[in-house]
Amino acid sequence: MFPDDLGQRASMTHEQSLGAEDGDAPNAGERRYAALVREQLALLGEDADREGLQRTPARAARAMSFLTRGYAGDVRDVVGDAIFREDHHNMVMVRDIELYSMCEHHMLPFFGKAHVAYIPDGRIVGLSKLPRIVDHFARRLQVQERLTDEVADAVDEVLAPLGVGVVIEAFHLCMMMRGVEKQNSRTITSALRGVFRDDARTREEFLALARVGG
Ligand code: ZN
Repeated sequence: MFPDDLGQRASMTHEQSLGAEDGDAPNAGERRYAALVREQLALLGEDADREGLQRTPARAARAMSFLTRGYAGDVRDVVGDAIFREDHHNMVMVRDIELYSMCEHHMLPFFGKAHVAYIPDGRIVGLSKLPRIVDHFARRLQVQERLTDEVADAVDEVLAPLGVGVVIEAFHLCMMMRGVEKQNSRTITSALRGVFRDDARTREEFLALARVGG
């Protein structure tokens, strides 16, 4: 949900951000966004009052609010207390994490998969938290390169592991739908921290497990 004052979004908690249900009345931020969408429709040559479009500004505002909810809250709230002491020093990996984000250059979706791995140094994290960390950074305007780095840095920060590896493979609608129309080109980015960067065997093990493109 947008805050009433659109400039204050980064200071919201997740609970505030996710509090909006579909049936909730729009707040001041959503009403402002809906008014902009209505103007967009007019600029596109549409009749915003025709039956099929009457509720579109409100729906688009609610959808955009959901798709950018990652601006609210802190990644530490995402992880919460799901960090456990464990004397395990082998690679932990969650692969094929579904990813939906929006490019900041065109405000069009990009989507694909993230593969996130780390080698613990006395602490492990609840496995469901890794997809939630990806989501936290994906649900805002992004470039894939920064998203990859932010996920790696967040895992590094909350777990202080021996190393972190993140690979993201994604299709960008701004490439597929406009201009070059390269429908099958997939963009692959990686971010390596600690032993994933410094140790060739660890890096190779990670990239083999990620099986990019597989
Ligand atoms: Zn783009």
